Amino acid sequence: MFKAILIEKQDSTQSARVAEVDPTQLPDAPVTVRIEYSTINYKDGLAITGKSPVVRKFPMVPGIDFAGVVETSTNDAWRPGDRVLLNGWGVGETHWGGLAQKARVSAEWLQRVPETFNSKQAMAIGTAGYTASLCVNALVKHGLTPDRGEVLVTGASGGVGSVAIALLARAGFNVVASTGKAAESDYLKALGARQVVDRNELSQAGKPLQKERWAAVVDSVGSHTLANACAQTRYRGLVAACGLAQGMDFPASVAPFILRGVSLLGIDSVMAPRELREEAWQRLARDLDIGQLDRISTTVGLAEALNAAQNIVNGKIRGRVTVDVNR
Ligand code: NDP
Repeated sequence: MFKAILIEKQDSTQSARVAEVDPTQLPDAPVTVRIEYSTINYKDGLAITGKSPVVRKFPMVPGIDFAGVVETSTNDAWRPGDRVLLNGWGVGETHWGGLAQKARVSAEWLQRVPETFNSKQAMAIGTAGYTASLCVNALVKHGLTPDRGEVLVTGASGGVGSVAIALLARAGFNVVASTGKAAESDYLKALGARQVVDRNELSQAGKPLQKERWAAVVDSVGSHTLANACAQTRYRGLVAACGLAQGMDFPASVAPFILRGVSLLGIDSVMAPRELREEAWQRLARDLDIGQLDRISTTVGLAEALNAAQNIVNGKIRGRVTVDVNR
């Protein structure tokens, strides 16, 4: 038997608990992984609390990411003892996920853990950090250089935001952090933000074109925040949009795009091709200071993860929550 968080649905009521599961119940797939660490991402919060219909099949083991060691594999790509990680691919949504001591998955969904990191560090980064890296890579590929000016990071104290700040600062960018948590100003500056602004400046309905300020934006918030960020982006600037912490809506006009040549870059981590995943993890391995990871992440056990899920959807988490599935 192994421990897992199990989400069940009876009639129309969804519930989540830590359960003992028989390994024969694992989905049919070629690679079995002994999980060491998983995490609580925003999407895991939505899945466990049932706030949004993230889970498509019941019972479901949530957890959109994990890191651990291959136990058995019928696919030649992996051998017992290989250190692997997984981000996305519908795991924790339609296929049993990482908030468990074991997972059975497709060989194509796994990646090697970069040499620089152990399993715990890889999950302190997790899907939020890997997505931040996808955002930074997209901006750089589209020509962003530090001399172009300030880069805004919204949802700054969250998982995506925290890692985005650290990566951008390390690459020499002048980062401005937008947060609703004024008390986290020192934390954001320690990660590398040169300035911290109140998120209320961005979260209300604004004009379609505003004073030009940002060379680029990493946005994990959506809604009015994304609309205002676009409206304040400088001529030919770039906006990487990856999240919806404020809302899924985008109450904007086309003005920034057609009058200022602003480009909106959509970032998806779930089905991203392998090449982009490898590049994102390469940047993390190269640029992310291991000391920063301790600053960014806290660790909980499986049972405490249920509470962390509630906290993340209520916007009460700073940085990342790593889950030690054996604790
Ligand atoms: P977190 O909860 O860790 O961070 C989100 C942050 O957004 C919060 O810390 C808070 O930062 C800010 N925020 C929360 N609520 C509001 C609000 N109502 N209005 C304005 N700001 C708000 O989540 P993650 O960093 O893990 O994920 C961020 C977003 O990115 C989520 O929507 C998630 O679903 C999405 N995401 C998308 C991925 C993709 O593939 N596209 C992959 C990973 C994440 P502060 O207090 O500093 O303002």
